[in-house]
Amino acid sequence: MSDSPSIFTKIIAREIPADIVFESASVIAFRDIAPQAPVHLLVVPTTEQFANVAELAAGNPALLSEVVTVAQQLANEHTNGEYRLIFNTGESAGQTVFHVHAHVLGGHLEEGTLG
Ligand code: 5GP
Repeated sequence: MSDSPSIFTKIIAREIPADIVFESASVIAFRDIAPQAPVHLLVVPTTEQFANVAELAAGNPALLSEVVTVAQQLANEHTNGEYRLIFNTGESAGQTVFHVHAHVLGGHLEEGTLG
């Protein structure tokens, strides 16, 4: 578990705005503020804050399963059924927000860190 609230915690609490496309009792999804593809969604568990997917997998595998299930459902709704599902894990892998999130990317990727 991380101890300090992240920017995504503020989105979950509606303290800062986001373009929310899905919310359940345990997962929220919203559009990335700096999209790197025509479809770029972030899928975030809301009931517990883990820093990355490794911590989520170890600490609450059922919640990881929910995140992945929601991510692929949203991908099917927002893309042509072909997409990338990415968990950047660690700073050198491009992670900048240490509150676990899945990137759903559909369409042609821009040149950048996720490609
Ligand atoms: P990471 O680099 O940690 O895998 O991904 C973090 C993502 O969060 C980045 O793609 C970044 O554009 C996005 N992001 C950072 N701050 C905000 C924000 O305040 N709102 C939204 N919607 N996305 C954000």
